[in-house]
Amino acid sequence: MDMQTSFRTRLIAEGILFPTGVDGLFGRNGTFEAVYDGLEHAITNFGRGSGAEVMRFPPAMAQTTFEKSGYMKNFPHFAGTVHCFCGDDRAHHALMGQMERGEDWMGKQEPADIVLTPAACYAVYPIVAKRGVLADAGHLVDVASYCFRHEPSLEPTRMQLFRMREYVRIGTPAQVLAFREEWMERGQAFATSLELPFEVDVANDPFFGRAGKLMADSQRMQNLKFELLIPVNDGAGPTACLSFNYHMSYFGDTWDMRTPDGNAAQTACVAFGMERLVLALLRHHGFDLDQWPAGVRETLALR
Ligand code: ATP
Ligand code: MG
Repeated sequence: MDMQTSFRTRLIAEGILFPTGVDGLFGRNGTFEAVYDGLEHAITNFGRGSGAEVMRFPPAMAQTTFEKSGYMKNFPHFAGTVHCFCGDDRAHHALMGQMERGEDWMGKQEPADIVLTPAACYAVYPIVAKRGVLADAGHLVDVASYCFRHEPSLEPTRMQLFRMREYVRIGTPAQVLAFREEWMERGQAFATSLELPFEVDVANDPFFGRAGKLMADSQRMQNLKFELLIPVNDGAGPTACLSFNYHMSYFGDTWDMRTPDGNAAQTACVAFGMERLVLALLRHHGFDLDQWPAGVRETLALR
């Protein structure tokens, strides 16, 4: 058994993660959720005083919103669509027969106008855009959502359904870049307060296909994405637990969000991978929360 499997195995053996039989899909116990709650508290504290508007979303978004976001162009391999049975009694009878005989029954499922959310901030832009031209100060949102990405993995840090918390800044290039600078500092202070080892590095998103390679190279070259990486899985590279993303005017153009000068708004976000942060804390401080360093317990308000 390699070391990487062993962290996963220990998490399952200790009852911290409940496996479901599908890679990357887990239930969690009270220990895990206590740390999760602590992280929510700590992230709110680190963003305190910024006047962020709070938005919370279910794990899915409208198909129309999803289509307009351009996600299928860049990441079709991650998307999860929701389908439902829409037939009558006869169709139901046929369906039961197919299931009984172990035949394919999914072909008759029809789109439910809902798509699983791939990133928390996707839900924010159409809402802000609908309000009209931004104020001079731009806007700041504190958003969270369950997210889905079809990337089954044996690494416990790569789940198919996970929770993402973000601060999203919308405004002029100067406002948005200042926000990202500030949060790259704050993110490191956050990891330090949790007594976690980390490094910050430039990164790229895994854009799909041959054209995607060019997109990824250009994203790196322009320093559009940075990650705060923490070693979690033994025998593997460190894991991105926070990311700092600069979208330039991509979402401003897509949703026609405008700053008072008439230009397309720019956006940036800091994203916290909640499950990854919980796992990083368990990895470095152990499975017994009572034994964690006092400063870490304080940051997380663990009692
Ligand atoms: P990675 O390079 O590891 O795939 P990412 O670049 O896809 O990460 P983002 O798209 O920036 O990650 O998502 C924001 C945050 O959500 C990440 O910093 C990470 O902490 C978390 N995250 C992303 N994918 C997953 C996943 N499959 N399981 C758990 N957390 C994830
Ligand atoms: Mg990824």
